Amino acid sequence: MSFADRLYQAAPGWMQSMLLNGYAFQLHRQRFGAEFRSLFADWEASQWWDPARMRAHQDERVRAVVQFAGAHVPFYGRHWAEHGVNASQVQGVGDLPLLPTITKADIRGAGNDMLSVPPAQLTHGHTSGTTGSPLSLWYDRETVIANNVADWRQKAWGGLALGDWCAVFLGRVIVPVEQRRPPFWRANHVQKQLWCSSFHLSEENLPRYIEEIRRRGIRFLEGYPSTMYIVASFLLRRGETLPLRAVFTSSETLHAIQRDAFDRAFQCPVFDFYGHAERVVFAGECDRHGGKHLFDEYGVTEILDDEGRPVPDDQPGMLTGTTLWNRGMPIIRYRTGDLSARTSARCQCGRGLGRLADIATKAEDIVVTPDGRFVSPSVLTHPFKPFDQLRKSQIIQDAPDHVLVKLVPSSDFSDAHLAQLEAGLRLRLGDAMRIETRIVDDIPAERSGKFRWVICQLPHGCQVDWER
Ligand SMILES: [Zn+2]
Repeated sequence: MSFADRLYQAAPGWMQSMLLNGYAFQLHRQRFGAEFRSLFADWEASQWWDPARMRAHQDERVRAVVQFAGAHVPFYGRHWAEHGVNASQVQGVGDLPLLPTITKADIRGAGNDMLSVPPAQLTHGHTSGTTGSPLSLWYDRETVIANNVADWRQKAWGGLALGDWCAVFLGRVIVPVEQRRPPFWRANHVQKQLWCSSFHLSEENLPRYIEEIRRRGIRFLEGYPSTMYIVASFLLRRGETLPLRAVFTSSETLHAIQRDAFDRAFQCPVFDFYGHAERVVFAGECDRHGGKHLFDEYGVTEILDDEGRPVPDDQPGMLTGTTLWNRGMPIIRYRTGDLSARTSARCQCGRGLGRLADIATKAEDIVVTPDGRFVSPSVLTHPFKPFDQLRKSQIIQDAPDHVLVKLVPSSDFSDAHLAQLEAGLRLRLGDAMRIETRIVDDIPAERSGKFRWVICQLPHGCQVDWER
């Protein structure tokens, strides 16, 4: 945990609100300045361009990124030379298949050789770690802004404008886990977000959250599908609804059974979007909800077969992305590890942006603590994020008060790292849960080929029937 995190955890509630708003103000200045407003306006226009005009725009930008990377990023100079290609051969999107694809292992192996400038000049990020092996990433300023514009365009499609309040259930520890009484939330007045704790979602506490959202008149909700499902299935079990204008979900596969529960519990459309820390693919739903639109201004998305060749439209393949922004750490032809397909037909909304079918990612489960709190798998990824030294991990709940955490570490994973990881899990699961960590050689996928990062073996009211 960083010093700022420790300070936040130790502070009284009023000071937590102050710190949170100070932090939000800092983020706000970085993310919502004149450059944000100008790029947002550009993308408002470009979403309506016809595909040929967008392709020409992508050609120009991809050429510039590839040439920059070839000249300024040591990894690509070497890697492309080994494959007998050079940057000048890439004049546009159609030439990308000349370049080799790269994986998470390549980025990890390259270290600072993936960067064009020292890391001190860049913003740091991590992959979510749901595959159990988080990765360190770096963004330049333009990438931070473009990512924020992408996020806000998706929100705008769902009817959320800057200034509208939104209740957010993500992975940050907002309120100490030991806290027994509300408020289990903190208001962020800068970004108009009610940051709700994802770690107090018990049958006893859920009515308090719902009352608070009603009391404040909040009409938008954002969170991981599994967390939103905890809220929705609670409402439905009690025969209640919480009518809203839109629900935004991301980071996990949104299952049909979950979307159906959101429709009924929140009586509004769900806008599911796909983005990731590598910042090469962003895709989101428009109000027609026919799959997702690719944000073509953000990156170039390819669907490839096992040999790295493009597959035809409407056929599934590996989702692969190339940045059109990040000069600090250019990520070019990156295999995300997720499966999807491009859809050839234009969307009825009239936007010229490409389209993507549903994305298959990992299926996960919900942990329930001894004191009855439901904990989404995505929020449990957070304690894993600092550890590049973990190759794989898995969390199995096999008793009401016991989780087994399997770890496949690399050689530089130390006892201090392990202690820090355990402390992060303790912070989220509470003192009543016994947390057993076990170092193992490998964690095989299930027979279906799916890798479930969290497996809860106990029956409870928020479980998703993955086979449906
Ligand atoms: Zn559309």
